[in-house]
Amino acid sequence: MLLFGVALGDVLIDASLALIALVVGFFGALWYVRQTGPKAKSPEEIAEEAREEESQANDAERANMAAMQLRDLAKNVAVDVGAHNNFVSDISDQLTSESDGAAVESAIEKIVEANEKLQNRLEEAERKIQTQAEEIRAQQSEALTDALTKLANRRAFDEALVKNMDSFNNQRKPFSLLIFDVDHFKKFNDTHGHQAGDEVLRSVGRTITQTVKTTDIPCRYGGEEFAVILPNTRVDSARIAAERVRKAIESMDVVFEDKTLKVTASIGVAEMREGENDIQIIRRSDECVYAAKEAGRNQCFWNDGQECLPLNAPAKAVAEEKPVAKQAAAPKEPAEGSLPGREVFTGELQRRVSESHRFSVSLSVMQISILDYVKLVSEYGEAVGKLLLDSVAQFIRSSLRDMDLLGQLEPGEFIVMLPGSSEKEAKMVGRRVETAISNCVIPLGGKELRLQVSHGVTDVYPDDDADSMIERAGQMSEKSQGTVAV
Ligand code: GH3
Ligand code: MG
Ligand code: MG
Repeated sequence: MLLFGVALGDVLIDASLALIALVVGFFGALWYVRQTGPKAKSPEEIAEEAREEESQANDAERANMAAMQLRDLAKNVAVDVGAHNNFVSDISDQLTSESDGAAVESAIEKIVEANEKLQNRLEEAERKIQTQAEEIRAQQSEALTDALTKLANRRAFDEALVKNMDSFNNQRKPFSLLIFDVDHFKKFNDTHGHQAGDEVLRSVGRTITQTVKTTDIPCRYGGEEFAVILPNTRVDSARIAAERVRKAIESMDVVFEDKTLKVTASIGVAEMREGENDIQIIRRSDECVYAAKEAGRNQCFWNDGQECLPLNAPAKAVAEEKPVAKQAAAPKEPAEGSLPGREVFTGELQRRVSESHRFSVSLSVMQISILDYVKLVSEYGEAVGKLLLDSVAQFIRSSLRDMDLLGQLEPGEFIVMLPGSSEKEAKMVGRRVETAISNCVIPLGGKELRLQVSHGVTDVYPDDDADSMIERAGQMSEKSQGTVAV
C-alpha cells in the first residue's frame, strides 16, 4: 500500500506539472497564433488592425498575468518538482519579460517539449501504478488463500464472518455456519504418508466448493477442519446443505498413487443468533462437530440455539426463548457472596483453554495466595480470616475486567482466568493487586496487619488443559513468595 501511495504521489506531482505546462501552453499558444497568424491582410482586416492590436495587447496582458500566476503556482506546487518546476518557471519568466515573436516561439517549443516529457513521465508512472496495483492484488489474494486447498484461509474466513455479522446486525440478514472436521484424518497420514493426507484435504476442499452455492464461502479453517459461511441462509436450509456436502464427501474417491481412499467428515451447523458474537456462533457449530464425533462420526449435528441435535431432530428450544448470547454470556453465578470453587472454575477454564487452542486467542491464568493465611486464621480466628478473604477478593476484583473470572481454589488461594490476556498483561494485573494489598494496613487487636500476597502467572501452552495451567500458575506463585510482616 505504501508503494501505491508513493506512486500516486508521483503521479499527482506529474499531473500538477502537466497541468501547469498545459495551461502555460494554452495561453502561450493563444498568443502565438495571434502573433504569427497570416501576414497578408485584406482591407477589412487592416480596418480591424487597430482593434486587433488592442485585443492582442489584452491577450498579451492576460498571457503575462497567467504566466505570472502559473509561475507562482509552479513554485508552490510541491517541493519535489525539481527541474521541471524551474524549467516551467523560466519559461514563464521569459513570457513576462520578452515580447518578440521569436522568443515566444522558442518558449512555446520548450513548453511543447516539456509537455511531452511530462506526458512520458505520467505514462510511466501510470504503468508503475498498474504493476504495483497488480502486485498488491496478487499479494492480497495470496494472503487470503490457503496454499494447499486454494480455498479461502482462516484470515479470509474471519473477515467474511465479520462482514456477515455486520449484515446480520445492521440489515437483519441471516446467515449460517458449517464446520467440518475430517474423521480419523490422522490415519491417512499415518498409513499412507503426509502426501496422501494432503491429497485428502485438497479433495475435501474441492468437493465442498463444488457442492455449496457460489455465494457461499468455503474456507480451510485449520489443519483438517473446514468451514462454510452461508449468507442469507436460515438453519433449516443450512442443515440440508450440510447433509448434501457430507454425502458428497462420503462418496468421494480420493486416488492417491495406486490406492483409492475413502473419506468422511463430521459436520456442525448453526445459525447466527441475536446478540451473538463470532466466537459464540463458532463455538455452537464446533460443539455440534464434537456431538457428531461422539455419535459415531460421518454425520451432521445442528444447534437449535440451546443444544446440539442430530440433523433430523426437531428443535427443542422454544421460539420465545432468550437470545443465545444472553444465555452464553451469563456466567455460572456463584452463591451470593462466594466465589466459584475449583471444580466450577476448572470447567470454565477448560472451555477457554480449548477455545484458545482452536482459535489461537491469548489466555492467561493467575494465582494469588495470601501468605501465611492459615497462620493468620489460627491466630485471629475464622471471622477475621473471612474478613481478610473478602477484602482481598475485593481488591482483586477491582483490578479485573468483566470478562475475567475470579475463583477460589482453597481458603487464601485465589485463581483468576484472563481471557484474551497475554502473560505480560496478566503479570501487570498481578503486580497491581500485590502492590494495592501490600499498601493496605489492617488494624487488628491493637496491632497493624500488613497483608502480603504472592502471585504467579502463566499463559496457555500448546498441550495445556485447565489443570496443568492452574498447577503452573501455582508453581509460579510459590516461587515469588515473601513473608508476612505483622
Ligand atoms: P477425529 O475423527 O477425532 O477428528 O480424528 P482425527 O485423526 O481427524 O483428529 P486429530 O485432530 O487427532 O488429527 C488431525 C491430524 O491432522 C493431526 C495433524 O497431524 C494432521 N494435519 C493437520 N494439518 C495437516 C496438513 O496440512 N496436512 C496433513 N497431511 N496433515 C495435517
Ligand atoms: Mg480436528
Ligand atoms: Mg479430524
